[in-house]
Amino acid sequence: MSEETIFSKIIRQEIPTPLLYQDELVTAFRDISPRVDSHILIVPNKLIATINDVTSEDELTLGRMITVAKKLAKEEGIDESGYRLIINCNSDGGQEVYHIHMHLLGGQHLGPMLSC
Ligand code: AMP
Repeated sequence: MSEETIFSKIIRQEIPTPLLYQDELVTAFRDISPRVDSHILIVPNKLIATINDVTSEDELTLGRMITVAKKLAKEEGIDESGYRLIINCNSDGGQEVYHIHMHLLGGQHLGPMLSC
């Protein structure tokens, strides 16, 4: 059983954080430390620690993360200019919070895909 992170408290609104979207599967809110002009996190409500822990039962949730990213990109007005979706996994992937989340990044030119 994975340990809860701050994201579970945000999802349950025990830590009041403005939500951009929430349904029975996923929740979205702005990154507390935005790296770009528009930086949103899309998080499954269910605690899944890393992408390595995903199962076939999670496929609906993972698909929902993409459709919510598309919807929020349009609402942010960055759908036509473009954006990037990132999910980090474990230490080499740069994961800091062990509750999977998709970064929606945009609002400016993002440059090369990787900085190592
Ligand atoms: P990752 O490195 O992929 O695990 O990304 C974790 C992200 O969560 C970072 O971009 C943090 O800025 C963000 N973050 C951490 N705590 C909070 C919080 N309380 N509210 C919103 N974003 C957070």
